[in-house]
Amino acid sequence: MIDIPSMVSDFAGCSCGQNHECAIGLVRVESGLQGRVGETLRAAGFPHRLLLFGDKAGFGAAPQVGPSLKEAGFSVETIEYDSLRVARMEDVERVENAIRSGRVEGAVAVGTGSAHDPCRLACARTGAPLALFATAASMDGFASYSAPIVDGVFKTTHPAKCPEVVLADSAILAAAPAELKSAGFGDMMAKYVALIDWRVSHLVSGEPLCERVAGLVREAVDKIFALAPRVLATDEESAAAVFEALLLTGVAMSFTKTSRPGSGTEHILAHFWECMELTEGKIPNYHGIDVGVATLLVMREYERLAAMETVRARRETPDWDEIYRAYGPLAPNVRQLNTPDTITDGIAPEALEAAWPEIRRIVASVPSSATIQEAMRTAGCPCEPAQVGKSPEFVAKAMSLHPYMRRRLSLMRLSKMLVG
Ligand SMILES: [Zn+2]
Ligand SMILES: [Zn+2]
Repeated sequence: MIDIPSMVSDFAGCSCGQNHECAIGLVRVESGLQGRVGETLRAAGFPHRLLLFGDKAGFGAAPQVGPSLKEAGFSVETIEYDSLRVARMEDVERVENAIRSGRVEGAVAVGTGSAHDPCRLACARTGAPLALFATAASMDGFASYSAPIVDGVFKTTHPAKCPEVVLADSAILAAAPAELKSAGFGDMMAKYVALIDWRVSHLVSGEPLCERVAGLVREAVDKIFALAPRVLATDEESAAAVFEALLLTGVAMSFTKTSRPGSGTEHILAHFWECMELTEGKIPNYHGIDVGVATLLVMREYERLAAMETVRARRETPDWDEIYRAYGPLAPNVRQLNTPDTITDGIAPEALEAAWPEIRRIVASVPSSATIQEAMRTAGCPCEPAQVGKSPEFVAKAMSLHPYMRRRLSLMRLSKMLVG
């Protein structure tokens, strides 16, 4: 069982100089826990009037959570959606209103990411305590300090709050739909690219890197990688192990106060797909499903780059007009991230050339794209863009343009400085 407060004290005084914090006080992953949520939150000191928030899929998977809260003496107001695949600003406001009006004093979100995110932001804005009850090990945002929320057609990440309590019932995790389990596996494979990008940025730009936090993520992803053959089994032990590894990478992200340890250029690529699909009114795929496919595309590109023994580099010369045109309604956000200067401005071409041998070693330090693909296939993940509804043109456009939609250095972005 993960004991986050003791991990926090373990990481106290870390030699990297950063104060590694995580606000989660209690994690429980147990068989049959759904019937004990009330007593667990009672013991954790949760206030009397609670908002129970989720959708039909989440409550359907965990029908005993509500009754268990009532049995433990909580007064419960329920917000139940038909389906909450996309977390929108109006959902955040509904939760916020329930808290601000005084009807409830805390929230319990039941489901996966998009059911948790509105509560995460609303509870941050109001200071109300939050418990997440996870019904699937489908992504790594459980310990996150941020919430991706769609406002109109824009999906933006808001600083939000990390829950005080994270709960999961291993019987429910094991019975979760196969697609959600595969999504969790895909989200974990992304950590290999995330670790490459973090190390490369540290090497070339001096961005801070904590070896202990990077080590924590590497250990978690290697563990899941080894579990590939058991991901789809209805096996409580494996389901709990995948959940705990996803949670650990979330803790790593809260330790650095950025998503850097768990999200590299593959997440930006998947985010690009998602944003473009939202502008077309499409419901995006599960996060980890797209992220897994993006991970393979990026790993193959990184291996192609790392095959070069030496490189010649020059200053990046993006055609901004063309980039903004391609971003369409998202252009103002992208422009803001790249003016008055852009992230590669401070990188000397000679420094990139000199770092190349080490960059090649960094790429080689994680499993190959072929190995990751084999593990993903075993875990039921789609591996090719066509399987997740992306045309070759859309993939090419996204591969070329996504590095501009975040102000974060990656090997992908640096490759734009290479000659030839
Ligand atoms: Zn550290
Ligand atoms: Zn993710």
